[in-house]
Amino acid sequence: MNVIIIGGVAGGMSAATRLRRRDENATITVLEKSGHVSFANCGLPYYIGGVIEDRKDLLLQTPESLHRRFGLDVRVRTEATAIDREAKTVTARDLDSGDELTIPYDALVLAPGAAPIRPDIPGIERALTLRDVEDTDRIFAAAKEVSSAVIIGGGFIGVELAENLVQRGIATTIVEAAGQVMAPIDPEMVAPVHRRLADRGVRLELGSGVTKIGADDVTLESGAVVPGDLVICAIGVRPSTALAEAAGLEIGERGGIAVDERLRTSDSSIYAVGDAVEKRDAISGEQVLVPLANTANLQGRTVADVIAGDEDARDRPVLATAIVGVFGLRVAATGWNEKRLRAAGRPYRAIHTRAAHHAGYYPGAEEMSLKLLVDPETDAILGAQAVGGDGVDKRIDVLATAITGGISASKLSTLELAYAPQFGSAKDPVNMLGFINENRASGMAKSIQWHELPAAVERGATVIDARSPEEHARGAIPGAINVPLDELRERAGELPDGELVVHCAVGQRGHSAARILVQQGRDAVNLDGGYETWVAGTGAAGEPQAR
Ligand code: FAD
Repeated sequence: MNVIIIGGVAGGMSAATRLRRRDENATITVLEKSGHVSFANCGLPYYIGGVIEDRKDLLLQTPESLHRRFGLDVRVRTEATAIDREAKTVTARDLDSGDELTIPYDALVLAPGAAPIRPDIPGIERALTLRDVEDTDRIFAAAKEVSSAVIIGGGFIGVELAENLVQRGIATTIVEAAGQVMAPIDPEMVAPVHRRLADRGVRLELGSGVTKIGADDVTLESGAVVPGDLVICAIGVRPSTALAEAAGLEIGERGGIAVDERLRTSDSSIYAVGDAVEKRDAISGEQVLVPLANTANLQGRTVADVIAGDEDARDRPVLATAIVGVFGLRVAATGWNEKRLRAAGRPYRAIHTRAAHHAGYYPGAEEMSLKLLVDPETDAILGAQAVGGDGVDKRIDVLATAITGGISASKLSTLELAYAPQFGSAKDPVNMLGFINENRASGMAKSIQWHELPAAVERGATVIDARSPEEHARGAIPGAINVPLDELRERAGELPDGELVVHCAVGQRGHSAARILVQQGRDAVNLDGGYETWVAGTGAAGEPQAR
């Protein structure tokens, strides 16, 4: 069997090596147009910042090492230029000699990835992008010469680049057209990220696109001019579909190559994986573009199983589980966020909690904020976000695993998670999400979200601050009456009639306060996530902050 794989990095190389492990006899040819295969795309920003010191560490394999270990015929600087579906051949060009070659296939795997989007603005030709080792070399060389940089786009790659350029002493601005960086995170969860970036000297220009790139600066829609000797465009990627389109393969509505759950394109001898394809969303089942290494690698493995004749091999729907480090802060998400649920008009229950990553009495506990989104009818977990210090990765992975395994939100309260004081808490933050969800699902606890507070106040609700007078004095929700939790039973008679919205700092004392009041016959709800979430949300939404 002749198998050709176009694209020799995440999806393509996973397919090639898995296929070899399943089939010693197949002839496997990998065509890669860049100068490197199997390189560490996800590590590229950290080489630019000097965290990865040796460029060789980015290059995980070479054509020679892949030939030795896996018997692969890997051709770098060889671009596939056409697919003849009738003759079942691929034409490719050697980019150094200019020679053309035509190779026959029985099965063809397209893993060409995606290409950075370049907006059509004056001066864009000066902007660099980051996708492969060659791009990295260009940015690395340029970074040695400059004192200022503008990164257009505040997504995961933009934020990682900002950290690494600052590491090199370069004054760095992120320009982001949306009102926040990192779109998968909801606004109240992203506030600490904005704070961390600003604290470390990154200038944030949010809610304003770029209109022009000058010789050493960038002009924004707002009219502001930002210094930028180096300009990097990181506004997202577009699936590389040119070859597939030219071969008449079906392209989906989202612009990626259409594949079925066996990763077959509209031609049953041609498969496609990775950033180039549309994937099936795990929450809605709709087609989505999720350009992540984890799914590209998993698809590469699956497609090899399919080609090797495994009847059970199926592609799995995606959650888009992702994590990024921002100057020591960990920011992670899986599944849908609240913005997307609201936009889709889908009912949900949102839960915020804040916890230490391990027992508070053990030195070095770091705080994290967690958010869970739940289907109120089925109790299914729809998504989760985690922002904070150590332990964020562990919690988001437990939650992603729970979604994949069909574990309901209330069942999170029953998970037995490893505990010793230096690693966690006897009631892990993930268990806490389950407890809160159980209380909410059973109707024992009612709560409202930070963005629902103005409407509650409008209809006459009184806000009760159950924190201490010292905490209240440091900053409070306008109009809130301060009755500390420990005094609430005695002073409940002082509270005005009507609906009460109770809050504390993060939600736990507020829950106890609401329970006292409800058991006294009052109409009381807890402000989910407390004052801290309200501050983060209203601040992120551009409304006045009380601190
Ligand atoms: P790629 O890995 O991009 O490989 C496609 C290859 O195909 C390319 O090398 C390309 O040169 C080649 N090719 C294209 N057309 C042709 C052709 N006609 N002929 C021959 N070769 C061709 N994901 C995460 O999950 N976590 C992270 O932390 C993360 N960080 C990232 C950081 C950066 C800077 C970048 C750029 C990406 C990051 N990603 C991350 C995304 C991840 O790298 C991609 O999702 C993943 O590499 C996609 O795999 P792929 O095989 O589809 O495409």
